[in-house]
Amino acid sequence: RVRSSARIRQSSRSGRRGISVLVTGAAGFVGSHVAGALKRRGDGVLGLDNFNDYYEPSLKRARQLQLENAGVFVVEGDINDGALLRKLFDVVPFTHVMHLAAQAGVRYAMRNPSSYVHSNVAGLVSVLEAAKSAAPQPAVVWASSSSVYGLNSKVPFSESDRTDRPASLYAATKKAGEEIAHVYNHIYGLSITGLRFFTVYGPWGRPDMAYFFFTKDILRGKSISIFEGPDHATVARDFTFIDDIVDGCIAALDTAGKSTGTGGKKRGPAQLRVFNLGNTSPVPVSELVRILEKLLKKKAVKKIVKMPRNGDVPFTHANVSLAQRELGYRPATDLQTGLKRFVKWYLEYYSPGVKKIGSI
Ligand code: NAD
Repeated sequence: RVRSSARIRQSSRSGRRGISVLVTGAAGFVGSHVAGALKRRGDGVLGLDNFNDYYEPSLKRARQLQLENAGVFVVEGDINDGALLRKLFDVVPFTHVMHLAAQAGVRYAMRNPSSYVHSNVAGLVSVLEAAKSAAPQPAVVWASSSSVYGLNSKVPFSESDRTDRPASLYAATKKAGEEIAHVYNHIYGLSITGLRFFTVYGPWGRPDMAYFFFTKDILRGKSISIFEGPDHATVARDFTFIDDIVDGCIAALDTAGKSTGTGGKKRGPAQLRVFNLGNTSPVPVSELVRILEKLLKKKAVKKIVKMPRNGDVPFTHANVSLAQRELGYRPATDLQTGLKRFVKWYLEYYSPGVKKIGSI
């Protein structure tokens, strides 16, 4: 325990910007990239993750190893463990919390609904409770999701659009998170920024996402199902490359206002913000497959299947003008370029006999 508190202090010691960030979900896809990028620019970073087995635990461990090689310590624990959070806030005066731990994925909710309530609702409350009681109070940036737009059919999706028709339990928990954020901002003066990510992809990605398992299945000659929306509508996603998401997360952190504490009105209102972070150019899933076939130099065995009612929505498309204006966010990577980088990583990471070393 003594050794780990020394590592916690060292990992989270702020650099010349005076920033020290608790990154929850640090062994996850987005969390590992954000934690690595913050450390590289000299900020103090401490990771927290429960290393659950929703997907390949070895991939989470490999990300952890990359982070630890870069000087980021990842504490193993659950965001619902209030005593652990209080201890971490006692040891480190975090200036920010980058809250990226969650139960992700929309389809898994049909098998394990309570994991969404545990991590995305109770877990968010637990993180906000710890943040509101900490001294100093950190600013919180957290991952909401494009899924809050649900069955909204107005495109592109803007932050002011309706979010009252979620299509999955996952989406409902993210939407609940946005309302919970409102309460903690209103009562406790916490500065909170919610980021609605649009289908994030890239190296060290998530094996449960289509671009990832399509790659795996194309390589081993297994057939892949391409969904078709109602009335043969094309299913498309606003695929957003991980580096663009990392830039957006860091810009949100850098522009986050200070938490003002209870009775914040006297010291000016704390910020409550929500931004879309997408790529602004939806691509049909059939086109995603065509690019993968080219990069992998192998034809996919395709099955066109009517989209089941499993929580997926047919179409996503971000309007990012608010993030552009307030955060200077400009997605810079097209799908072809981003997938090339993903496939390169995938082939290296999964090639037999190759040591799983790279850099996040
Ligand atoms: P991920 O599953 O790779 O990362 C989440 C991490 O959180 C995992 O390592 C997991 O072990 C950890 N975790 C889950 N529950 C926890 C708990 N109770 N306590 C501690 N750790 C816990 O997912 P990701 O793709 O990196 O997503 C990061 C965030 O972005 C999530 O909030 C997700 O909902 C959101 N998001 C992701 C996408 C995307 O396309 N990847 C899109 C929209 C929103």
